[in-house]
Amino acid sequence: MNPKIWLSSPHMGGKEFEYVKEAFDTNWIAPLGPHVNGFEEDIQKYLGEQVHVAALSAGTAALHLALVQLGVQAGDEVICQSMTFSASANPIKYQGAVPVFVDSEPDTWNMDPELLRKAIKGAFAKGKKPKAIIVVHLYGMPAKMDEILTIAQEYQIPVIEDAAEALGSSYKGQRMGTFGNFGILSFNGNKIITTSGGGALVSKNDEWIKQTRFLATQARDVAPHYQHSHVGYNYRMSNVCAAIGRGQMEVVDDRIKQRRANRTYYQEAFKDIQAITFLTEPDDTYFSNHWLTAVIIDHPKVTREDVRLHLEKDNIESRPLWKPMHLQPVFEDAPFYGNGTSERLFEKGLCLPSGSNLTEADLQRVVGKVRELF
Ligand SMILES: *Cc1c(COP(=O)(O)O)cnc(C)c1O
Repeated sequence: MNPKIWLSSPHMGGKEFEYVKEAFDTNWIAPLGPHVNGFEEDIQKYLGEQVHVAALSAGTAALHLALVQLGVQAGDEVICQSMTFSASANPIKYQGAVPVFVDSEPDTWNMDPELLRKAIKGAFAKGKKPKAIIVVHLYGMPAKMDEILTIAQEYQIPVIEDAAEALGSSYKGQRMGTFGNFGILSFNGNKIITTSGGGALVSKNDEWIKQTRFLATQARDVAPHYQHSHVGYNYRMSNVCAAIGRGQMEVVDDRIKQRRANRTYYQEAFKDIQAITFLTEPDDTYFSNHWLTAVIIDHPKVTREDVRLHLEKDNIESRPLWKPMHLQPVFEDAPFYGNGTSERLFEKGLCLPSGSNLTEADLQRVVGKVRELF
């Protein structure tokens, strides 16, 4: 059996272990400590000094605390991109609120601005103002932020950017996660950099980020005893995880370079195969980290599943694109504004092995196997 090629696996830079050892040597083994503060500063410097950052236990936790602070309550409606991972939508349910799913446009595969407007009008027609809009930058590709922010502003609805997959991506030179009222990042094991598990909430509003840190550490009021006037959460990042993150932030730009190079490699290798097309930046105002190389396979005989299974037989992991939320049993009652795009993407789309630690031989193996079918 050939060695396994993973879809996207962790890729340490070299300094992580030294920073983890420092956490042990100083006995900062807790969901706070100097590496947590340092990691937040690293991310802030990377995204731009205008934003503030709270390091948390997961991207999902970050989304949840964004919704909590926007006052999302039971029965409220929250608009969410349908084409995404379930973690974008689950926190809406944690609050007892109703997700309203919106389809994608075919250029970036992210939220369709015209359908967003329709969904907002639909909510207003029922006498409900949506409490928030969750827009996702899928596979690192920035959504059409100008259009989306204009509509959000027109109706005065806060925007949460799910930038879990888009650290280092930018639109018109501004990094993703810094456009909305809130942005969230993920450092799960399969993301562009990892802390083994972790996330961050980002905002230009420092008060919100201070409140995030308060809520994420059990909402303890200032008192010598345990005193609480808010419902708290245990969502803070640990100092050990943050140590890994500090090492990873030293190499983030290299990781992005490598992921983008993977995509270029595949594009060159398949340029004579008309049936394979790539998720592509619409113009040079978009910069994607190309976290995963995502392709559409549109061929009369060879399906996406044929390709996936053929790779699997050779011990190569690939994945269908995210199954849209409006097709998920858990969200079957949720309203949906559709145009067929996400369903088509799910039917024909595949993510190819995309880790920053793939070797040229790995890429050649993947390409060779795919080419056997065409
Ligand atoms: C990974 C991911 C999340 C969740 O992040 P975790 O850190 O795993 O909780 C949310 N949204 C999207 C789009 C993701 O890919």
